[in-house]
Amino acid sequence: MIPAAFDYACPTSVEEAVRLLAEYGEEAKVLAGGQSLLPMLRRRAARPRLVIDVNRVQRLRGVREEADSLVIGAMTTHHDVIHDALVRRHAPLLASATETVGDPAVRHRGTVGGSAAHADPAGDLPPVMLALNAGMVAEGPRGRRTIPAAEFFVDRLVTALEADELLVGIRVPKPAEGWGFHYEKFQPSAQAPTLVGVAVAVRRESGSIAEARIGLANMGATPLRAAAAEAALAGADATEEAVARAAGAAAEGTSPMSCGGTPSEYRAHLARVLTRRAVLRAVRSTGRNAV
Ligand SMILES: Cc1cc2nc3c(=O)[nH]c(=O)nc-3n(C[C@H](O)[C@H](O)[C@H](O)COP(=O)(O)OP(=O)(O)OC[C@H]3O[C@@H](n4cnc5c(N)ncnc54)[C@H](O)[C@@H]3O)c2cc1C
Repeated sequence: MIPAAFDYACPTSVEEAVRLLAEYGEEAKVLAGGQSLLPMLRRRAARPRLVIDVNRVQRLRGVREEADSLVIGAMTTHHDVIHDALVRRHAPLLASATETVGDPAVRHRGTVGGSAAHADPAGDLPPVMLALNAGMVAEGPRGRRTIPAAEFFVDRLVTALEADELLVGIRVPKPAEGWGFHYEKFQPSAQAPTLVGVAVAVRRESGSIAEARIGLANMGATPLRAAAAEAALAGADATEEAVARAAGAAAEGTSPMSCGGTPSEYRAHLARVLTRRAVLRAVRSTGRNAV
């Protein structure tokens, strides 16, 4: 299909993009990699009066290191995230989950900020942002603010960004010693959307798991924390049996949809299986007396 007609702007600064967003409000759409927006325009699921292409805003690209965190520019492509030395060192979960996104063409165009702002419940990166306790950095006419990932994903394709705010970056805290990470997902075929994804961060203290953060993709309208499994893991032995028991609670409090021939019970089953697998691999990645 051919998109409905729209005006096009190509600002070179955040300030100019924000000014256009403030002027057009809900009638504007930001264009990042276009991997999700262009199909929506073609299906006329989005009919903006103005498309604001932010590809020429250099400030939105690249990864910056601060004392206790990394700030990843919203327009940093999946490809660049995967190959960035700082991301691989301080946010290996983000790098490895991004490796599973789409195909090379999608990863060369698609961006980390576009994936967050699109807020697709099947997206692989939003649950990673939950597991990493990331902060979403937004700029608008009232200045800059950081929205915790836990408050950023409001509903299916809806975020806490105001209509006049641009997502400028994602702040990922650097992990302390003892943390391990893993991302597991299940998709029926290479190009199919993720049926369920599980992003895990665990902190190990000698023979036990001190703390766990688990983000789930496609287990509700937004990415969710597997709160019951996290609680069961806190203080549990780092053994296969204890992890399997805790993972049994992975679907508690979630609301997976039945759609596309996939019953919600099957998604719940996948959440338990993938959580068990991901937690064990995250624990093993801490490298001490592997279970
Ligand atoms: C064939 C194919 C396979 C894919 N497979 C996967 C997959 O396996 N896993 C996965 O997670 N994703 C997958 N995707 C989606 C891909 O990751 C997209 O890159 C991503 O969803 C959107 O990023 P984008 O940069 O292309 O954003 P765009 O499509 O340009 O924008 C998406 C939405 O975010 C808004 N937006 C973008 N940037 C900003 C910003 N800085 N501030 C405010 N709003 C903004 C746009 O207005 C739009 O509403 C796939 C896409 C395709 C086409």
